Amino acid sequence: MTGGAEVNRSDMSFFEHAPCGLLVARTDGTILRVNSTLCQALDFREDELVGVKRVQNLLSVGGRLFFQTHCGPLLGMQGSVAEVQLEVLGRDGKRTPVLINIVRKKIDTEVVDIWSIVVTIERRAYEKELLSERMKAEAAAEARMNAEEKLQEVNAQLSVEHRRKDEFLATLAHELRNPLAPLRNVLEVIRLNASTGAGAPWGIDIIERQTRQLTHLVEDLMDVSRITQGRMQLRRAPCDLVGLVKAAIVDLQPMVEEACHTLTVDVPGRAVQVDADDVRLTQVVSNLLTNAIKYTERGGQIAVTVSEGAAEVIVAVNDSGIGIPPSALGSIFDMFSQQTPALERAQGGLGIGLALVRGIVELHGGRIRADSAGVGQGSVFTLTLPLLQTGTLAGPIAPLPQKSVVRRILVVDDNVDAADTLAMALEILGHTVRVAYRGKDALAQAEEFAPTIMLLDIGLPDIDGYEVARRIRDAEWGKHIKLIAATGWSQQSDQLLATEAGFDSHLVKPIEFSRLRALMEADAS
Ligand code: ADP
Repeated sequence: MTGGAEVNRSDMSFFEHAPCGLLVARTDGTILRVNSTLCQALDFREDELVGVKRVQNLLSVGGRLFFQTHCGPLLGMQGSVAEVQLEVLGRDGKRTPVLINIVRKKIDTEVVDIWSIVVTIERRAYEKELLSERMKAEAAAEARMNAEEKLQEVNAQLSVEHRRKDEFLATLAHELRNPLAPLRNVLEVIRLNASTGAGAPWGIDIIERQTRQLTHLVEDLMDVSRITQGRMQLRRAPCDLVGLVKAAIVDLQPMVEEACHTLTVDVPGRAVQVDADDVRLTQVVSNLLTNAIKYTERGGQIAVTVSEGAAEVIVAVNDSGIGIPPSALGSIFDMFSQQTPALERAQGGLGIGLALVRGIVELHGGRIRADSAGVGQGSVFTLTLPLLQTGTLAGPIAPLPQKSVVRRILVVDDNVDAADTLAMALEILGHTVRVAYRGKDALAQAEEFAPTIMLLDIGLPDIDGYEVARRIRDAEWGKHIKLIAATGWSQQSDQLLATEAGFDSHLVKPIEFSRLRALMEADAS
């Protein structure tokens, strides 16, 4: 008995201090009992609620409506409602978010509703935090997915580039080996016929052709590296595009004839001036023409047109050749983009020609595009350049003096073969020539031989060409020698270095003989 009373007292205490608000009400809402947890949460005394207020008075207007339309009918039908989220009003009208469970029970003779009211302020904060963490996690996952996608894209791109570079190296090796074989054969023939001298002119033709081919390959490679590093410099001057196109066609006529193509040319009957580097522009036109010839089956049609607009001039090279698939049109001007690797076809090529074309055209402020109706349907390459505005035309270019004078020339190069052969060629032209292979030797010979012209390589084993030039300029006897630098580099910075060291001119190796002669002739006037 005593134990039972204790339990009852504990029951009371549990009811009063339960960790949630508890409330007993009649079915009309009249409050019959509240525990102190709820009184504290709402800041009411028990006697202000019990028998005085109805549960509805503790709910916000929206809550009351919800209670009336949802909770009331549910309690009537199933005797309970669970996990209803509402807001209850405290004494000062402050709203507290709560989670409510209600059961309808018959106690003794009366039917009552028993409410448990759990304050959810913490839970809301917690939920908010949870939501914000979830959003953060989602954002991080999305960012990771994007990064992974990007990585995959970069990887794919890298492997394409990697493959292209591999193909390029294989092509390069192949292309470089091609001219080497005939060169070696000619050497063999010359050696075998050393005593008789038979076969020499024939051999010279081959050597010349193959050397030109090798030089061309190396120059293309150097140009491409200049373009990709933004180091290509144009020597622009007014030039006649019609004349330039015609000259390029004349140069390639043998190739056209060999392939039995029919070439038609439709150009204005007068000069069309553009502000361009004529050497580079010739390279562009020749490249487009060579491709048209190469990528057209024997006996095809090639048409070249030049048409002048108001501010632009358009050169179109049209061929009836193998055409370009639509999928390749977008990347045809990219480096190493060959539809068929050169190793698998007869025409050869490094796959850098069109990349060079685009680079050079863009440096001129122009555009280039490729069109083709598809494989086997021929191609059109259209080059657009800004016309030179009248008023900026340069004066006529002075013709080179024809007079040829015998000169004393000192050739300095540590490449013995290069130095000796150049000296031989100059001697054939009638000049008096000496050779030095080292810087200090060059200085000694210069003082003793008193050349009028010195052709100086820059990279020498003891003191470099710049230093040789400086010492010559410092000497009384060296003030008037014409110093020409011959280097493998043609950047403005190299030319500047040469000028600072005292050089008069700068030639790029392999030395173009016509340029050297022009320099010497100019000096003779
Ligand atoms: P290369 O001719 O050395 O391969 P290019 O850069 O000049 O390099 O050309 C790249 C590729 O574009 C060629 O390999 C060829 O597949 C394609 N191409 C160029 N010109 C033509 C053309 N006139 N007709 C069809 N395909 C062409």
